[in-house]
Amino acid sequence: MRLLLVEDDAVLGPRLRQDLRRAGYAVDLVDNGIDGQFQGETEAYDAVILDLGLPGRPGLEVLQNWRSAGSQLPVIILTARDAWHERVDGLKAGADDYLGKPFHQEELLARLDALLRRAQERAAPQLSVAGLTLDEERQCVQMGDGECVELTGTEFRLLRYMMINPGKLLSKTRLTEHVYEGDADRDSNVIEAYIKRLRQKIGKQLIETRRGQGYIFGGEAL
Ligand code: CA
Repeated sequence: MRLLLVEDDAVLGPRLRQDLRRAGYAVDLVDNGIDGQFQGETEAYDAVILDLGLPGRPGLEVLQNWRSAGSQLPVIILTARDAWHERVDGLKAGADDYLGKPFHQEELLARLDALLRRAQERAAPQLSVAGLTLDEERQCVQMGDGECVELTGTEFRLLRYMMINPGKLLSKTRLTEHVYEGDADRDSNVIEAYIKRLRQKIGKQLIETRRGQGYIFGGEAL
């Protein structure tokens, strides 16, 4: 899954990006409201973490502009700890959740996880599909009673995205958009190579190729 992080704090922004990457997300970091709004309008994100105090354009205005344009992007806002009115204004402007600064990264990750589950309409905290169980903390995948098979960062992001969308036709473009960061080298042939490596790990039959269209995860196991 790919996140947009809009945070102008030169220390907090890069640190959060690193925490989120380590947790298995592709993350685009932007440090002002104008670029933040543009990115949110033009790129495919699964969720946004939006600071409210931003140069260029206030976070609240960015959020209002997204919502009035009909965007349903899941958004967590970052507010000052004691500014309860910011939280109220943020929720009224269409935020899905908030976090007061300073916060523990574990709380951000837990809220993000809950928000993404709601957005994907799944209740169970663990992702289990087609006989596979994804261990999101250890970033490995378990088949049946077997050991947990280690995944690289890209393999993990790719498999998680497919397991969230079982039975759906996923184009290479869509997979690329949700697995890679904006400034990554996004050659869709690379996706093919990763699909091949995933098949070697989880079994060929779970990822079906639709020539010229993309891939369907789950196969007959669904
Ligand atoms: Ca700020």
